[in-house]
Amino acid sequence: MINESIIDAMVRMARDAMQRAHAPYSGQPVGACVLASDGTLYGGCSVENASYGLSCCAERVAIFRAIADSKREFDAIAVVADTAEPCVPCGSCCQVMAEFKIRDVIMANLKGDIEIADLMDLAPCATGKIHNFRGLHSHEE
Ligand code: ZN
Repeated sequence: MINESIIDAMVRMARDAMQRAHAPYSGQPVGACVLASDGTLYGGCSVENASYGLSCCAERVAIFRAIADSKREFDAIAVVADTAEPCVPCGSCCQVMAEFKIRDVIMANLKGDIEIADLMDLAPCATGKIHNFRGLHSHEE
């Protein structure tokens, strides 16, 4: 599990990214931050579109930014929104997290509530490099 100061930095970056979201349709801006294994943090914000299906969640924006910067290994991701409960990633984002074996999912809101879940508990059906993923992070450990 990642340490508390890194979690705080990730949530701060996600909150900062949230301010740059393009969310005129939902009115619900979301921010995210992914932690690459070399310690680099990448922020992302939700980017909506008039054709709703083209919108992209903050988590995927953060991951894709990191991928475009040549990162391939990650330790955790944080997601933040102004929600009553900590913001939970959607199934599409969980699928992308599974692709890159991002295990620790930090969910937060603006009130300071934080919950951390294992991706496999959030999205046990996520596929891709799932066999390696399960091998690395077996629940029988
Ligand atoms: Zn999503």
